[in-house]
Amino acid sequence: MDGLMMNYPLSLVHLLERVNQLFGKVEVVSRLPDRSIHRYTYAEFYRRSRQLAKALTDAGVQRGDRVATLMWNSYRHLEAYFGIPACGGVVHTLNLRLHPSDLGYIAKHAGDRILIVDDVLLPLYEQFKEQAGFERVVVVGHGGQGAKTGLDDYEEFIARGEGDFEYPKLDENEAAAMCYTSGTTGKPKGVLYSHRALVLHSFAFALPDAFGVAQKDVLMALAPMFHANSHGIPYVAVMLGTKLVLPGSQVDAENLLELMDSERVTVTTAVPTVWGIILEGLEKNPGRWKLAPNFRGLAGGSAPPESLLRRLDAQGVSLLHLWGMTETTPAATVSRLKSYMRKLPIKQKYAVRCRQGWPLPFVEMRAMAPRGEAPWDGETAGELQVRGPWVAASYYNMPEEARRWTKDGWFCTGDVCTIDAEGFMKIMDRSKDMIKSGGEWISSVDLESALMDHPAVRQAAVVAVPHPKWDERPLAVIVRKEGVVVAADDLRSFLSQKFSKWQLPDAFVFVETLPHTSTGKLLKSSLREQYKAWKWETPGS
Ligand code: AMP
Repeated sequence: MDGLMMNYPLSLVHLLERVNQLFGKVEVVSRLPDRSIHRYTYAEFYRRSRQLAKALTDAGVQRGDRVATLMWNSYRHLEAYFGIPACGGVVHTLNLRLHPSDLGYIAKHAGDRILIVDDVLLPLYEQFKEQAGFERVVVVGHGGQGAKTGLDDYEEFIARGEGDFEYPKLDENEAAAMCYTSGTTGKPKGVLYSHRALVLHSFAFALPDAFGVAQKDVLMALAPMFHANSHGIPYVAVMLGTKLVLPGSQVDAENLLELMDSERVTVTTAVPTVWGIILEGLEKNPGRWKLAPNFRGLAGGSAPPESLLRRLDAQGVSLLHLWGMTETTPAATVSRLKSYMRKLPIKQKYAVRCRQGWPLPFVEMRAMAPRGEAPWDGETAGELQVRGPWVAASYYNMPEEARRWTKDGWFCTGDVCTIDAEGFMKIMDRSKDMIKSGGEWISSVDLESALMDHPAVRQAAVVAVPHPKWDERPLAVIVRKEGVVVAADDLRSFLSQKFSKWQLPDAFVFVETLPHTSTGKLLKSSLREQYKAWKWETPGS
């Protein structure tokens, strides 16, 4: 027998209506390219998002049409996040850190009809416009380059949308947003988020046992809105009616900390690299900024080293660790101590917090070893596979990638992990980054985290390099902190407190910078390429 409940769609339109009805007075604060601050309320956001929806409809946007954005985090990007889906379109966020030829490929592959672009990013747009072939381009003016002939001005464009607007009747399974993976191998792949997935992700994200967000919080969307939905923050903010702070393009410690202090930010998410920048700002300027007493941070995108958690704790910033992917909207797990773990010794608590954690409700995970599902013993490694209502079921228009899904409906993440008896998952590596030495696996992530705990190390990458005897051996590439001297032997003996001899890197290379992907992850494929012909000193050893 079916339940006798209404079949009410989980759609972003409801969130848009609700925030106006209940939280119209709450502020959205944006830092603009000239560093000035723009403020308006959710009532204003609501009015303008609907104008955008109407203007797009009048411009011929049909259900399911992709409208791309090439924008920094600001109030007009937020309008695109809601205005485009409100008219039945799909907001496709283009990652402005990608190479122009990738952007051209992505826009073409996605079939983007219209582009909304910040004027400060027009020079980038110029480099891929031919390849992309947008029908129409709408320019958001920041006093920069202004709209050129043939391009629309955003303010004039939405002004045409004044007047009544009726939402199309949307099904919750229709696409609302789209983002391409910034994969380091192969072509970028399109993930299409449904209204339902974005709504359910927001519910789960806000739970007290997930990231614990309430209306009284002040959220800052620090992760870029052009990658993986800014970790979901814009949707959560609008759903809960929290004050929202959008930091624009100035993501240096000075600008961020100043904004966090003055706007009394309580929750933000970022990749560990950005947390490292914030930490350095706090340590170098004691007492300069006063963060809100209940300020907490979320870190995802790569594994935060224990030293980062410890040093941020010392600054009064508690960092919660999450794991996710573009394909998982993105939040899928969180590492929170369980009630009965509160009394664990400090060292063990940090070890737990450094794990990627347990899945949010409705996300399931398993580790698949070559001979079947790995037991939850914290030791047996396998490929992490996940499923759930905000996990992608396929890529857009890429049937050749169907192998990323198992026959029984799980998504193969490409990460290698262990899961312990408490259900805490720990990422060992991306499968392609694992180092296979003499038939045994060495985790590059563990070595990197340990190296970054050394006081002289700013950044560390460990990669597999071919070896005549052991197949592969680890090579560590190190960026030292400014003005600090440390030798390979010091690092080796530091690591030997934690690792067996055979797991230690055989070579240490000191460099000025490490290559990163457009989303701040280490670009290990480029390091592997660079060091593939490394001459081991004792090749027979
Ligand atoms: P992206 O789709 O660009 O967000 O990248 C997703 C990938 O980032 C995952 O498959 C992981 O390899 C990595 N990743 C994300 N979060 C974490 C984390 N907390 N710890 C380690 N790796 C992570």
